[in-house]
Amino acid sequence: MGLFEQSQIPLNAAIKAMKLDPNAAAIIEQPERTLEVHIPVRMDDGTTQVFTGYRCQHSTVMGPAKGGVRYHQNVNMDEVKTLAFWMTCKCAVAGLPYGGGKGGVIVDVTKLSERELEALTRGYIDKIAPFIGEKLDIPAPDMNTNAKIMGWMMDEFSKIKGRFEPGFITGKDLSMGGSLGRTAATGRGVVTAAIEALKVRKIKAKGATCVVQGFGNVGSWTAKLAHDAGLKVIAISDVFGAIYSEKGINPYKLSEYVATSPQHSVKGFKGTKEITNADLLAIQADVLFPCAMEGQITKANAAGVKASIICEGANGPTTPDADEILKEHDVLVVPDILANGGGVTVSYFEWVQNLYRYFWTEEEVIEKQTDMMVKAFKEVYELSQEYKVTMRVAAYISALKRIAVAMKFRGMY
Ligand code: NAD
Repeated sequence: MGLFEQSQIPLNAAIKAMKLDPNAAAIIEQPERTLEVHIPVRMDDGTTQVFTGYRCQHSTVMGPAKGGVRYHQNVNMDEVKTLAFWMTCKCAVAGLPYGGGKGGVIVDVTKLSERELEALTRGYIDKIAPFIGEKLDIPAPDMNTNAKIMGWMMDEFSKIKGRFEPGFITGKDLSMGGSLGRTAATGRGVVTAAIEALKVRKIKAKGATCVVQGFGNVGSWTAKLAHDAGLKVIAISDVFGAIYSEKGINPYKLSEYVATSPQHSVKGFKGTKEITNADLLAIQADVLFPCAMEGQITKANAAGVKASIICEGANGPTTPDADEILKEHDVLVVPDILANGGGVTVSYFEWVQNLYRYFWTEEEVIEKQTDMMVKAFKEVYELSQEYKVTMRVAAYISALKRIAVAMKFRGMY
């Protein structure tokens, strides 16, 4: 089963539980527009290489499509469509005035020079420019794209339009209208959601144990902010391996170590013992934070999960058949479209600040983000109780309720 098909399983469960009008369901099940582009780039050796890219606008019912651009050798249309669908639902769960979109380019960034990467980025924007804009579709960073790439995109789009266009993209550097608090925002939201989940499970946050899979943007900030909230981080992993310490790991010191270690890996950090990524998922802990990538908790390993709570920092880390097993084992899963919505929430704040040309302090950003996340968590948890469904299905119910009303008033069904 492809990723998009898999992603429809909890959606269909929500449609059934809330008895959504089938006419509304039919609209939400398909993306509005998916674009495939081919981008010629003059390489440093004088040859021309043609790269394939995508942009999918899954929904613009609630507002402009919103979602990142991923650069990866495994990017494909099915993945981009799925990520765009998750963005539609994520924005609706968070109560943002956005639809969902996503983009991607098939490229191994490690094989490009800085000049080639810039040429590819500008070429991608040239191809999708007629379909994006601050009131139409607003890109952002995702895997292997960052503030520097957002800067090139903004510059290229502003040149095409012949005017300053900061609001067409988020995740920019502060110098170009980025928002304070954006870098840590996804991890901050993940930790806020976990603290609410710990309350549901009547576990005190202070001293609660947790495990973090992935130590990139989301994983490292989740680990740091969990540590700040008094949780004990006992294991952390990255693509190279995993480390464990019963006494707890200081994620700030680990970050410094990773920055200077030869492989830029968590492996070998002082005072920890090496374990495997498979061992990490089966550790007895109060919270497991999967913050790496899709499809990590599966039918094969879900029964071995001993955490009381899974709080999903990554998109799609749990497969639908794993969800069934976790439900039987009474693991509380805080789903991705709720738990990792902090990133797009602060992207929304960035967009608002760009439209107003008036900027907020970091404290204001954090306060507003935390309020929105706690509210969204409570709404989803209450829906899960009302409909007697998992929090994942409840999150889709929360999203569909908002989207269906907007579709009705637009006269779409
Ligand atoms: P990143 O590239 O910065 O970090 C990914 C981390 O996962 C790295 O430490 C990498 O070594 C590790 N990793 C990769 N494969 C692994 C494996 N098989 N086992 C263990 N670790 C592995 O990416 P990121 O921005 O932190 O994104 C991580 C996930 O969170 C993705 O699913 C992304 O779509 C999602 N997400 C990111 C944001 C954001 O604001 N960055 C927002 C919402 C969701």
